[in-house]
Amino acid sequence: MNQSVESSIESIIKNFIDYSPENTLKNHDNDKAFDTPLVGFSRGDDPLYEAYKEYVGTFHWTPLEIFSRSFPLFEVSAEDLTIISWVLPQTEATKSDNRKETIYPSERWARARIFGEEVNVKLAKHVVATLQKAGFRAVAPSLLSPSFKWMTSERFSIASTWSERHAAYASGLGTFGLCDGLITARGKAMRCGSVVANIKIPVTKRPYHDHHAYCLFFSKGTCEKCIQRCPAGALTPTGHDKVKCRNYLLADTKNYVTSHFNFDGFGCGLCQTDVPCESKIPEKDTP
Ligand code: SF4
Ligand code: SF4
Repeated sequence: MNQSVESSIESIIKNFIDYSPENTLKNHDNDKAFDTPLVGFSRGDDPLYEAYKEYVGTFHWTPLEIFSRSFPLFEVSAEDLTIISWVLPQTEATKSDNRKETIYPSERWARARIFGEEVNVKLAKHVVATLQKAGFRAVAPSLLSPSFKWMTSERFSIASTWSERHAAYASGLGTFGLCDGLITARGKAMRCGSVVANIKIPVTKRPYHDHHAYCLFFSKGTCEKCIQRCPAGALTPTGHDKVKCRNYLLADTKNYVTSHFNFDGFGCGLCQTDVPCESKIPEKDTP
């Protein structure tokens, strides 16, 4: 029996991460950068994408905007587009190393931030090329589009023209935590990516109504473990100070990673490890 389109695309993404030698931390043992991905789908005319313009900033692209910008001569409607979103969970080895850290990232975590992101880009290229071969047009808004930009946002201070976490939220893959990370079925210690294509795929049902549904701070008023883990004072009960976080990442951790691990990189992720939402949706009775 033929696979459905959604199963075929899911297999393309999962097989790349599970079997390609490109999925590597580029360390001595050539360890895998990521575990088996989660995959979700949303439609180009999903009202959430219009709402992001209001919530994130008017510069945030709808799927139709980035698709039309990428293929200006091809006429298409928002409803003809599908957003294919994936979550790349960090491996147990990477999470375990970072759990022990309190100020700077472990080497594996920093490698996952830099070389893992290279894997994410290669996966996006693979998905786009596979779709193109099958006759579809596809673009990876943040990972491959030359138009992608970081912008200043009134609400978030720093935001971009395409948010992978917001695409994943729309595609049923998770909800936001106090620290802004997306809590998925495989937890918050992950990276994510997406492709917009003119292909019809049934959407993934969102098993939540609230964008903070899985975070214990918002659902129960408890936890705050990510606040305690942050070495930069960038997390408080009012949320995530992106400027403090970015300054810590791009100055302090960059110096540390470059001088200790012998490659040019940065990273932190302390708020993503050794917390109840690290590797799963936390149970509501978590103390
Ligand atoms: S560590 Fe706790 S408060 Fe922070 S995002 Fe996770 S569940 Fe929410
Ligand atoms: S990535 Fe690091 S600096 Fe940024 S919020 Fe998380 S723990 Fe704090």
